[in-house]
Amino acid sequence: MVRGNKAILNNMKDGRTIHIFEYVRKAYVRYNGSADCIGYHEEQRPDTHGTKRNAFIFHLMMHSQDEVEANTDHLPEVADVSKAQKPIEKELKKLKTLAELRKAALSTSSSSADTKTRQVATYYRSEALKKYVKARAKGNCEGCDTPAPFETKKGPYLEPHHVHRLADGGPDHPKFVIALCPTCHRRAHYAVDAAAFNQTLIEKLVGIEG
Ligand SMILES: [Zn+2]
Repeated sequence: MVRGNKAILNNMKDGRTIHIFEYVRKAYVRYNGSADCIGYHEEQRPDTHGTKRNAFIFHLMMHSQDEVEANTDHLPEVADVSKAQKPIEKELKKLKTLAELRKAALSTSSSSADTKTRQVATYYRSEALKKYVKARAKGNCEGCDTPAPFETKKGPYLEPHHVHRLADGGPDHPKFVIALCPTCHRRAHYAVDAAAFNQTLIEKLVGIEG
């Protein structure tokens, strides 16, 4: 990776804050807040000419204003956030109730914490959020209300979906993330009625989370 991509990825290691600006129109941008990079994957995406190219998709966590400052002393000591996956999985197994998972999904380290601590806390929160929405769904897709298509070792297979793109300023929060079956998830991204379908998901979440 080079330049911009490398700089984003290095947020995980050197801890400079990522600030998200949205291109509104020529010469105008909107500031959406700050974020941490907690990982990435590669996939084929069309470029500006519609040609498929290999793209890095960064997993950014927006810093939310609606967070509860939690004690993060229990979080594992790791070299950097890329090493945090296993110890955090272990930590999350200790959370048994939906209320405990929800609290973890909203937890954040103190803003005065050092970068590594903050990033590990962000990663913990992100994983807790995914686990929480799946637990909340109780084995049924929250989009079409049908049972998850199959079981995994960790329970019914459902995929967390963000109903607000980061560019819309939606932070990672239980009320913006819905557990979907693969069909509903693809529909929310690729269907001709994707926008309308997403709107029904937003309304469903209001019913679920209040
Ligand atoms: Zn579904």
